[in-house]
Amino acid sequence: MVKAVIFDFDGTLVDFQNTDIECLKMILKKIGAQVEPDIFAEHAVNHIISFHKLVDSGEEDSLNMHLYRLSHTFMDFGILWDKTFVDYYKQLLLERTIPYKRVSNILSYLHGKVKLGILTNAYDPIMQTKRIQASGLSEFFNEIQISGEEKFAKPDPEAFQIICSRLNSRPEECVFIGDSLKYDIGGAITAGLQTILIQKGNTGSIVKPDYRVNCIEEIEPILKKLIA
Ligand SMILES: [Mg+2]
Repeated sequence: MVKAVIFDFDGTLVDFQNTDIECLKMILKKIGAQVEPDIFAEHAVNHIISFHKLVDSGEEDSLNMHLYRLSHTFMDFGILWDKTFVDYYKQLLLERTIPYKRVSNILSYLHGKVKLGILTNAYDPIMQTKRIQASGLSEFFNEIQISGEEKFAKPDPEAFQIICSRLNSRPEECVFIGDSLKYDIGGAITAGLQTILIQKGNTGSIVKPDYRVNCIEEIEPILKKLIA
């Protein structure tokens, strides 16, 4: 018997990757820089990866992510840096935090039948809260748990167990849906939840979700079966 359905946010309910690239290209266009947009975006994505390592080693404050990655990307291309670009980027990102197709229908169907939660890892909980609000999905959820304001982050099983108990459910009564094998599915399995992986090419792995789908639309029949 499934009593609660818990979702990851980025890459599961909304498309962060493509939106991020779109926002980066819009900044380039606004300032009229003569830089190949795809190469610029590639540098910006690589700087996020470097930034994660610096945060993990304690060399950077996690809240500086956009400042770090944007300023370093601008420097790579010799473009004059202006710190107002960070606010411009955030504004663009907020305006473009749009759910994937069918997400609202799926949540409308589930609403009232089961408890609904979001468990998301984010360095900046204030910005993440604004993004979730901007997506228009907040009202569907009984519980929104953001790692930046909590002690535990995915894939720590504690993070999953906390949200299950906030939804008044035992882990085995909850289904977790996410796009990361390591952070979402691995953690959820360890915590004892049922799992649905939205796979994006990450097929072969020792982590075995209960269900695999190619996009969020495909979870509808699975959830209908689990809840029936
Ligand atoms: Mg994700």
